[in-house]
Amino acid sequence: MNTTLTPSKKLLNKIYQILPQTQCQSCGYKDCLAYAQAISESKENINRCAPGGEQVIQDLAQITTYPAVPLDVNIRPSDLESTALIDEQFCIGCTLCIDACPIDSIVGAAKRVHSILNSLCSGCGLCLPPCPTNCIEIVPLNLSLATNKPSSLELINLNQTKRSALWREKYENKQLRKEKESAELKQKKTTADADLTLIKNKATRITTAMEIARTRLAQISNS
Ligand code: SF4
Ligand code: SF4
Ligand code: SF4
Repeated sequence: MNTTLTPSKKLLNKIYQILPQTQCQSCGYKDCLAYAQAISESKENINRCAPGGEQVIQDLAQITTYPAVPLDVNIRPSDLESTALIDEQFCIGCTLCIDACPIDSIVGAAKRVHSILNSLCSGCGLCLPPCPTNCIEIVPLNLSLATNKPSSLELINLNQTKRSALWREKYENKQLRKEKESAELKQKKTTADADLTLIKNKATRITTAMEIARTRLAQISNS
């Protein structure tokens, strides 16, 4: 049984700074801050951050004085040397991956082919589940990738402290933007209407994407 920590803003901040800031949710929390909060309140163990791996567990152990145990067996291991790629042939421009990316590393307009910003993408994989055509894959972030994706070199050349700062900034910006958009929508409508509008927007994008996919399939079948 771990000892109970004395929660404080300072402790929370120290724990938060150690986490890699991919905001990947593989720890089971909505973001790095939520996991840091749970640890600082003695509600969670220190071995749930898959991308942080052994190094993060050791750093957290030092601060909390908890034992440095291996990664929780229920969590799929991952690493910080990964990135995403979109197979453009199968992208139908539904924009659902953009919603899912916590750090704004996907660009593209509705009904257009989307691209990953490999100078930023952490390879967290959150964009994979919503993709209706399964056209996103996670690949190693290494020099051989840089041959085809030169922008990935920018991230390869950053140390982890700088990467974490970049991801944290992008995540915080996206959160602020979402809060602002939601507040603006709620000003115009009641909360229930605003929620309904968001759901309708998403449903429309999915329907459009499915129509594009069906048209493409018909074109392929007839060729
Ligand atoms: S980077 Fe680690 S702490 Fe942050 S969300 Fe992912 S698993 Fe949780
Ligand atoms: S593009 Fe996908 S893998 Fe890369 S950071 Fe965004 S959600 Fe994660
Ligand atoms: S979710 Fe998949 S199909 Fe939709 S825009 Fe993103 S990559 Fe393209």
